[in-house]
Amino acid sequence: MAKYKLEYIWLDGYTPLASLRSKTQIKEYASFPTLAELPNWGFDGSSTQQAEGKSSDIVLKPVAVFPDSTRKNGVLVMCECYQHTGVASPSNSRATIPDDPDTWFGFEQEYFMYKDGRPLGFPEGGYPAPQGPYYTGVGYKNVGCVAREIVEKHIDICLDAGINLEGINAEVAKGQWEFQIFGKGSKSAADQMWVARYILTRLCEGYGIDIEWRCKPILAPFNQPLDWNGSGMHANFSTKYMREVGGKEYFEKLMEAFNKYRDEHIAVYGPENHLRLTGLHETQSIDKFSYGVADRGASIRVPHSFVNNGYKGYLEDRRPNSAADPYLVAGRILKTVQTVPTK
Ligand code: ADP
Ligand code: MN
Ligand code: MN
Ligand code: MN
Ligand code: MN
Repeated sequence: MAKYKLEYIWLDGYTPLASLRSKTQIKEYASFPTLAELPNWGFDGSSTQQAEGKSSDIVLKPVAVFPDSTRKNGVLVMCECYQHTGVASPSNSRATIPDDPDTWFGFEQEYFMYKDGRPLGFPEGGYPAPQGPYYTGVGYKNVGCVAREIVEKHIDICLDAGINLEGINAEVAKGQWEFQIFGKGSKSAADQMWVARYILTRLCEGYGIDIEWRCKPILAPFNQPLDWNGSGMHANFSTKYMREVGGKEYFEKLMEAFNKYRDEHIAVYGPENHLRLTGLHETQSIDKFSYGVADRGASIRVPHSFVNNGYKGYLEDRRPNSAADPYLVAGRILKTVQTVPTK
């Protein structure tokens, strides 16, 4: 028997930007615990905007489990929140995703590292050299001296956890980075994304750095966007039908459905997205829907491979922003896809 540190992780009730919360309980197991061996737990929802003071207990239900190599006998336990009546909490966005083991998602998470209230590498009260050398950049003047150390540790902790982190790159703005997460099963990539966000946020504590998830943090006075890229969370998706049958006719019906539900998509694609989806900086504007082959200015980018394979494969919805909840994004995309009949 050994004592395991179980870190229960959940989303709080803050809107429009939920934060991660977590707490540890120690339990004895003969070996690394399986999901079925992890008990429900609870917390005081009145402290997280998830309950009134009078009846404040919220139930934590484990839904995914990952090894935590940063702690001896560490376990990361992603949880859903339920009220004591058994009804999902309003903050439980995971409960909105239709179950489908054959839907795959790949999310590209962009983010800024922030130190002393500004992007890492920005001089106090000013701006660094304009964008250009930072994207996929190398060298102290482009990426500074701790960012890469953090990013490297993040990769290793995620891989140790069994998270399908597929890659990283320095992004267009200074202090901006990206990582990609892939998962098979409609909820898997989003579970892994939230845990990868948790790992990165916690890792940065020791560096005096916070992660800025908001999509357009660098603004001039009066909220005027400057010539600095915002952060997205492009959502790549495919269902079994898209991968194996597809076809031009089905694709066009799919795009009609995405056009029809444009507002429903935008509603869950992250706060302040009007600041980012402007039609500039490789985005489509927020009130338009468009798609195009290899078009990074479209709402949905159709990869060359998709067309070359007879309209089969995955599509990239470029609209979700860096602060969006991947549970809501995955749920909305799958709901829209499911409105289109397959033959
Ligand atoms: P880019 O920056 O050119 O848009 P990335 O390489 O950053 O491309 O991201 C591509 C994403 O597509 C990855 O997250 C990958 O996991 C995902 N992906 C690849 N194939 C599929 C698929 N069949 N279904 C869903 N997602 C996929
Ligand atoms: Mn207590
Ligand atoms: Mn990318
Ligand atoms: Mn990117
Ligand atoms: Mn992309």
